[in-house]
Amino acid sequence: MPDHRRSGLITGLERSAPGAVSTDVDLAPLSRWKIGGRASVYVEPRSSAEAAAVMAVMSDRPEPLFVMGDASNVLLDSAGFDGVVVRIGRRMSRMAIVGRTVWAEAGIWVPRFARNVGCSGLDGIQHVIGIPGTLGGLVLMNGGSQRKGIGLNVSSVLCSDEQGRLFELDRAACEFSYRASSLQQRRAVILEATLALERGDASAIRREMIEIMRSRRARFPKRLPNCGSTFLSDPAMYATVGPPGKAIEDAGLKGVRRGNAQVSPMHANFIVNLGGASSDDVLWLIARLRHEVRVRTGYAMDCEVRHLSPDGLLRPAHEAAEERWPVRAEAADVA
Ligand SMILES: Cc1cc2nc3c(=O)[nH]c(=O)nc-3n(C[C@H](O)[C@H](O)[C@H](O)COP(=O)(O)OP(=O)(O)OC[C@H]3O[C@@H](n4cnc5c(N)ncnc54)[C@H](O)[C@@H]3O)c2cc1C
Repeated sequence: MPDHRRSGLITGLERSAPGAVSTDVDLAPLSRWKIGGRASVYVEPRSSAEAAAVMAVMSDRPEPLFVMGDASNVLLDSAGFDGVVVRIGRRMSRMAIVGRTVWAEAGIWVPRFARNVGCSGLDGIQHVIGIPGTLGGLVLMNGGSQRKGIGLNVSSVLCSDEQGRLFELDRAACEFSYRASSLQQRRAVILEATLALERGDASAIRREMIEIMRSRRARFPKRLPNCGSTFLSDPAMYATVGPPGKAIEDAGLKGVRRGNAQVSPMHANFIVNLGGASSDDVLWLIARLRHEVRVRTGYAMDCEVRHLSPDGLLRPAHEAAEERWPVRAEAADVA
């Protein structure tokens, strides 16, 4: 981004979110995969009003924009991002519980949110306790576990559109489906969410959450940076071949490495960063896993994880991987 354009942009952003704007920020430490280059501009708003004001500034600007939570479901490119990252993070993590209604800002850390809700005796979202992202990212992805999604309990979502105008969507308008919602098409920023829950027994809920955490610790790699499940589970494939982790394992690819990225020896649908892996290492593995499983089973696995290119193109990571390696990734390159 040329300096003269950047300084105009920063002046505008500083006016809308004073003290919340930084430049040339290393994104790798902020991402769960610990992969990513530098962002030209980074803004971390403190309120919905500030976030909407930032969007209003950006609506007149040519620079690409990326809304980020905890980057626990996104592969940031090692070449960086020449645009503006708006992070809805811990500065926006207030919450309140009134009766069976829970309200929270979108930057709240999901495990903290789930613990507070469960410990107050409200039942229904224990399944999200181990998901290391923000509430905003969770709602956008309709994330969850045990075959559930957070959308089941969302009653409304407050968003900003690309012009900085606030609007509210009820659950029906969010069109939640498996790991998807209409919010993904709207290019809206999720600012706040309201959930409706049932009353339950706080100690039973607490025990259930502890059990979920115990089971996740036993099944999923925890020590090495990763982004959770790389590929989505497809019901047709699940019925005949099994989930992606099994298909990858059956193809003999568990433990395969490219550079410092590895298909986790613990769970083959996770790609772990052994230290210093690049986004290309991960994309190469994605291309290879997808290709080999397709050849063996006829099913093309799509990614849950999205890739952010340096110029702001956000898309499922398998699309970026196959564009980069259109022909079969060669086995000979594998360490
Ligand atoms: C170890 C591990 C385990 C995981 N387990 C699960 C699991 O069991 N179930 C599951 O569903 N997911 C799981 N995930 C994936 C991930 O944690 C969830 O999808 C999470 O909710 C994403 O939130 P985030 O804040 O990290 O979003 P990010 O990764 O930062 O962003 C994901 C997408 O959401 C968008 N986004 C983020 N915040 C906002 C916002 N406020 N407004 C608009 N758009 C926004 C981004 O632009 C991007 O497109 C796991 C991840 C890890 C690392």
